[in-house]
Amino acid sequence: MIDNLLQLDKIFIQPLLQESEITLDILRLDVINEIVSGNKWFKLKYYLQDAVEKQYATIATFGGYFSNHIVATAYMCNALGLKSIGIIRGERPKILSHTLQNASKHGMQLIFMPRDKYKKKTDIIESYTNENWYWINEGGYGELGVKGAAEIFNWIDNSYSHIIATAGTGTMLAGLITAAKEHQQIIGLNVMKGNEALINEIYFLLPEKDKNKKFILLNKYHFGGYAKCPNILSEFMNDIWNKYHLPTDFVYSAKSIYAALDLIKEKYFYSGSKILVVHCGGLQGNNSLPKNILQF
Ligand SMILES: *Cc1c(COP(=O)(O)O)cnc(C)c1O
Repeated sequence: MIDNLLQLDKIFIQPLLQESEITLDILRLDVINEIVSGNKWFKLKYYLQDAVEKQYATIATFGGYFSNHIVATAYMCNALGLKSIGIIRGERPKILSHTLQNASKHGMQLIFMPRDKYKKKTDIIESYTNENWYWINEGGYGELGVKGAAEIFNWIDNSYSHIIATAGTGTMLAGLITAAKEHQQIIGLNVMKGNEALINEIYFLLPEKDKNKKFILLNKYHFGGYAKCPNILSEFMNDIWNKYHLPTDFVYSAKSIYAALDLIKEKYFYSGSKILVVHCGGLQGNNSLPKNILQF
């Protein structure tokens, strides 16, 4: 049932570079839906299935003003006939972000939480114990999120030597690590600045058998921080749009493609490497940028 909600048959691999010794391809997960970011569907699917099986009628989760996870949860719950609650980090803004407007349009009830209170998630959950809500962690962090994200590998064959993906909560990355073959290296990109604890959060999600798989997390491609969009990044986004007709978002996918090209330039990869960047979408987030910055 959940599998039929989005257009998974549209997923494809876009070749980007074919140099003499290096191949770079992009896995286009962004095309499955305009609102639900590529990886969000994968991460949510087993939670929603679990909730439906346990006969919950309402899903509650957490996120910020521009959260792809929030709007994806709203959309998916709506499609499944479930109610959804979004606990939103921060006071209610005068004008709702495009993301929150969309979440609301898809039936999500928004509850705004001051930042200091928002940090204490267990207290929040406890304060709503009388409600019979099924709780999903921020970003779908957790075992069922990892299980769903591992299925992204259904589109990745053994010929790839390196798989590059960005990490917010690291749930998708953990899923990719569990599904990777022995000869495949997963390269994660931390999109946040100064969040060096992320690596521990990823390890924590990995089953014992996967904890010593080939995997690294690079911290240098944050471009100033989580939702920062310096000119160099927006110019790069326009550039790859014009060259390859490839749309990217400024929080995640643009950074992953920039990093892949940069690592190739630095000769990070051995000759014969076949690299795949997982493009997870997030394009709805570009609506928060001032108009005219992007050419697509
Ligand atoms: C949420 C998201 C990520 C990060 O996923 P995590 O599992 O939280 O690390 C990456 N790219 C896009 C487009 C996203 O929306």
